[in-house]
Amino acid sequence: MAEFGIAAPSVKVAGVKSATATGKALSVVALRKTYGDVVAVDEASMEIAAGEFVTFLGSSGSGKTTTLMMIAGFCEPDSGTITVGGRDVTRLAPQKRGLGFVFQQYLLFPHMTVAENVAFPLTLRGVPKDEIRRRVGETLEIAGLSGFGGRKPRELSGGQQQRVALCRALVYRPPVILMDEPLGALDKKLRDQLQVEIKTIQQELGLTVIYVTHDQEEALVMSDRIAVMRNGLIEQFDTPRELFERPRTPFVADFLGAANFLPGRIEQHDGEHTLVRLDNSGGLIKARHHDLASGTRVKVAVQPGRLRACAAGDGFCTGTVENATYVGTLVRAGIRIDGGDGPLLRLEVPAGRGPVAGERVGISADPEDVNLFPTDEKAG
Ligand code: ADP
Ligand code: MG
Repeated sequence: MAEFGIAAPSVKVAGVKSATATGKALSVVALRKTYGDVVAVDEASMEIAAGEFVTFLGSSGSGKTTTLMMIAGFCEPDSGTITVGGRDVTRLAPQKRGLGFVFQQYLLFPHMTVAENVAFPLTLRGVPKDEIRRRVGETLEIAGLSGFGGRKPRELSGGQQQRVALCRALVYRPPVILMDEPLGALDKKLRDQLQVEIKTIQQELGLTVIYVTHDQEEALVMSDRIAVMRNGLIEQFDTPRELFERPRTPFVADFLGAANFLPGRIEQHDGEHTLVRLDNSGGLIKARHHDLASGTRVKVAVQPGRLRACAAGDGFCTGTVENATYVGTLVRAGIRIDGGDGPLLRLEVPAGRGPVAGERVGISADPEDVNLFPTDEKAG
């Protein structure tokens, strides 16, 4: 059953990239799935390179699991195509797609030992016994589970069980591994630790991973690229840095950067910058150049961590610090802007240099950190 992608059967584990770590691993074109009136996934398209760690990020119900299940073959698309390693697998049964899975529930066989659980995909594929023993041993070692092979799943902690599930997906070296909220059931500390472990294994083995989470931080820590999903649509598919610094929609700016939004109108362009007159304070803020006509109504978006406090009267607006909270290395402050009745402007600055409640401050931002989104005149 070579079609299962038992690539490079004698591959030595440490530091060796999998045989497929070049070129395009997976592509999805105009994938769509509806349930009655609900459009669960709306024309999703993406190309994923071999060796890439891609995350579907979105709140509950945004279509992440449905997209992943269509790729896996457990859910039939209404339309669209799925290609794995250049082969159209849209109508193939799950086990013929050569993909590995790890789900939130560990789904280990309770009556089998750890080693038997991990061996299962190889047993199923008729791999010789010696080969199975060797590869199970190697895989358990990668996941730090050497010595646990003889235990039953119930004799392991949640984190260890999830590592076993990961081993079972890794053991036959599928070209692509799919993971749906695999750390969702674990506590924060263990989750942080396993994020790093999964990322390390992925990089060392050159694995292609599609990962699902609703946790922004988890997505940012682990991914080469993130598809931000919303109501069945891929809102933006980009690197964490691009999503953070060049969000293409207000939704992305809010979801990843928790941006401040300030309504205003484009006043003029000066060389490489665009100047926006803010509604609330009447101040003028300088943004990166945007190709929008003067007079266009916009939402100005700036992340709290990219605002700076300066002397009152300087910057694009002045206000009074209404609250300031120390959160470890940062101070989070809420600023009541002069002449405005909008929400408090949220500011995050390194602790020690933080403003204090009651203080009068000016607010400034590097134009590179100021994003603009045109808004509908009537709605704006
Ligand atoms: P996510 O994984 O992002 O939370 P899902 O892909 O599970 O989102 O669901 C997307 C949408 O499709 C939701 O509105 C959900 O209620 C709906 N949905 C998912 N599976 C089914 C199903 N089997 N039957 C009916 N509606 C479904
Ligand atoms: Mg889900």
